[in-house]
Amino acid sequence: MSLYDMLPINDALNIVLRVAKALPTEHVATAEADGRILAEEIHSPENVPPFRASTVDGFAVIASDHGVPRRVVDNITAGVADRPAIQAGTAARIMTGAPLPDGADAVEMIEYSQLDDGLVSFDRPVKPGENVRPIGIDVSHGDLVLRPGTILGAAEIGLLMTLGVTQVPCYRRPTVAVLSTGDELVEPGEPMRPGAIRDSNRYALMTAIREAGGIPISLGRAIDDRELQTRMIREGVDRGDVLITSGGVSVGDRDFIKPALEELGTVHFGRINFRPGMPLTFAEIGPKLVFGLPGNPVSSLVTFESFVRPALRLMQGDPHPRRPLVEVELEHEFRRPGGRLEYHRAIVRYEGGRLRARSTGLQISSRLLSMVGSNAMVILVEGEGILPAGTIVPALLTGPIQND
Ligand code: AMP
Ligand code: MG
Repeated sequence: MSLYDMLPINDALNIVLRVAKALPTEHVATAEADGRILAEEIHSPENVPPFRASTVDGFAVIASDHGVPRRVVDNITAGVADRPAIQAGTAARIMTGAPLPDGADAVEMIEYSQLDDGLVSFDRPVKPGENVRPIGIDVSHGDLVLRPGTILGAAEIGLLMTLGVTQVPCYRRPTVAVLSTGDELVEPGEPMRPGAIRDSNRYALMTAIREAGGIPISLGRAIDDRELQTRMIREGVDRGDVLITSGGVSVGDRDFIKPALEELGTVHFGRINFRPGMPLTFAEIGPKLVFGLPGNPVSSLVTFESFVRPALRLMQGDPHPRRPLVEVELEHEFRRPGGRLEYHRAIVRYEGGRLRARSTGLQISSRLLSMVGSNAMVILVEGEGILPAGTIVPALLTGPIQND
């Protein structure tokens, strides 16, 4: 018998998202801010472009000054400034991106021009403003360009650099300590002994932590010893904003994580109505969060994905900490999960104008191959029986959609 009520997963997730808080902010070099989440509004300190710039290679002219050939009085390349003004009857050769000289109000493209003995004439009249980027057309001084909660990617970092904003206020990334528990565990690469299992969870979880924007700290492995595990949990919450343990949360004789967490802090839940990963445990020790994940490799990764990842995203200031929820059509029949709600790992493709889901096969919680290549978790609510091909069900997208 478990001491813990079986919580519906939405209740469990709501508890996690209520307890987790955004971390303090810090200034980050824009050059190193990829994937970080902006904590404040960014207003443009400048106009972009800061000067009238030519968008083509050609000749800067006064548009209203047609007719006779114009005398070419200058050659303006990108990066120069303070060139003599253009008068009626004159033109300046100008390169893409170079500042328009005073007086000029248009640029005629080189393709429409004839140059003869220092005089240029054009095949067609040019209109005022043609081929000129006015001051501030891309961004005006004072414009709100980025909002808090924006994830900084290539375009955002490019924009910040355009504006000369080389430091940005971002939420801190959570540090996440990871501890594996189990008498049977050995380090991958070390010799196996009878009955041993390689500690894969710690490496899988550290990878998932990095993907979620966290900074993993490996605490290694602990044998199933209550005192040792209690000490390691203390160390974990000292060193990380979050501690993740794997294993030792079931009701076996040597499952000590739950009682150790009860001793050190507050356990919010210790059982959820979910497959895979029913014994998922969530606790607070002081200001730190602790997730006791089940030891089975699939259970630990799916509960990480479903409960820990949203917390890590929220702590980084992500306004959308959960994965996108979509509707998918089952490509083949799926067996309903029985008594517990299941996140069934699947491959979702966009096909014939809709998203279609195919199972990754046998879903037992030891079989990591049920997650390899998977980009979605199809949500199968509890109940018996078969869902036929063509049934529409909700799914969480965990990776990019495929198209073939
Ligand atoms: P437990 O949750 O401790 O009862 O473990 C459940 C199953 O998961 C057992 O078969 C363990 O051997 C396996 N397991 C536990 N921890 C790990 C780990 N770190 N890496 C791989 N498998 C594990
Ligand atoms: Mg164990």
